[in-house]
Amino acid sequence: MSQEVDFLILGQGLAGSLMAWELIARGQRVRVVDREEEATSSKVAGGLVSPISGGQLALTWRVDEWLPVAVQRYRDIEAAMGGAVRFYHEVPVVRFFRDEKERGQYEKRCVDQAYARYVSAAPDELSYEPAIFAPSHGGVEIAQGGFLEVREFLAAVRAWLVEKDAYQVAEFRESGLEKEESAGMRWAGDVTIAKGIIYCQGWEVCQGGGPFSWVPITPNKGELLTLESKDLPVDRIYNGGMWVSPRSDGRFRAGATYGRDTDPPGPTEAGREQIEAGLRRWCRASYQVCGKEAAFRPVVRGRKPVLGTHPEDPRFAILNGLGSKGVLYGPALAAMLADHLLRGEAIDPEVDVRRFWK
Ligand SMILES: Cc1cc2nc3c(=O)[nH]c(=O)nc-3n(C[C@H](O)[C@H](O)[C@H](O)COP(=O)(O)OP(=O)(O)OC[C@H]3O[C@@H](n4cnc5c(N)ncnc54)[C@H](O)[C@@H]3O)c2cc1C
Repeated sequence: MSQEVDFLILGQGLAGSLMAWELIARGQRVRVVDREEEATSSKVAGGLVSPISGGQLALTWRVDEWLPVAVQRYRDIEAAMGGAVRFYHEVPVVRFFRDEKERGQYEKRCVDQAYARYVSAAPDELSYEPAIFAPSHGGVEIAQGGFLEVREFLAAVRAWLVEKDAYQVAEFRESGLEKEESAGMRWAGDVTIAKGIIYCQGWEVCQGGGPFSWVPITPNKGELLTLESKDLPVDRIYNGGMWVSPRSDGRFRAGATYGRDTDPPGPTEAGREQIEAGLRRWCRASYQVCGKEAAFRPVVRGRKPVLGTHPEDPRFAILNGLGSKGVLYGPALAAMLADHLLRGEAIDPEVDVRRFWK
């Protein structure tokens, strides 16, 4: 299958899928290469988006700018896939406070208008079914949250790419790349690459001696459960440290743990116990666990994503380090990189990969 493309994209996780979309939308010829592992960060991800997040109950970084881009992009992609299936679901997030310190954090922050506009029910307005939820310290409802059904989204993007002859199942190895000339490159003998290669391999981008092995990306293990429950409501995400989120198939996801790069791959009993113990602190719903999954998130030092071109060879680009917020950050960052590659527009210095160069 000899082919000339403008860009070769390595990996079809969230980063590679969104990157392919942005480039194809700008008239580029792409090929996406993925080795189709069963459990990757994107396939396992809960896919949650919340404008207020973390133990500090802070406004999520860049949410005002990047949330509208993300929602619009998922709607665009759904429309391009025929419009019959929704992958991104907008639902409020009920955030139960774990302790009085968290309630205090919220009370300090909510006087700021930029913050308060994401609050759809203050603690004294919050209603929930007391037979199902028993938070000890109250909570708050956050507007404009949502979740992407990531595995289904990736499968649809894959089918769309296959239809365009823009997808290949393969393991990419640097040794298969001919890059002597300063302009074009060839990969695996039969793909000629006119403009560049975009590294979207998740945490593995630093392995295998590629051009971005200097970027400080660490794998962070996460585990997650799939639940069946007749009790849990389907119209909200509930989060009290551990969260539970509805799915369109009637099941629920619950998670997630944050582990280390040295943890063994695959779901563990300890992970399951940690998630269930976290839920039991505020959730009385009965449920059955019908699935356990685990994968490694790509996390960059400082926790901000990385994108841009290699400082010494601009034929190589990267989009990575989406951490635990790939669904929110991915669309705006893929668009930023596409505009940089094709129109020379600036990369925001806070996310520019060059901040880690030498
Ligand atoms: C348990 C868990 C829960 C999460 N929950 C959320 C959440 O609620 N909200 C959220 O926004 N984010 C969440 N995330 C994080 C989110 O999934 C990541 O930010 C995102 O998936 C990263 O996408 P990526 O494309 O960079 O990497 P990946 O998903 O890892 O994709 C990389 C792809 O490249 C392929 N690949 C790698 N090397 C090669 C090679 N040499 N050749 C061919 N293919 C290759 C891999 O097989 C994979 O398909 C969660 C992650 C985990 C693990």
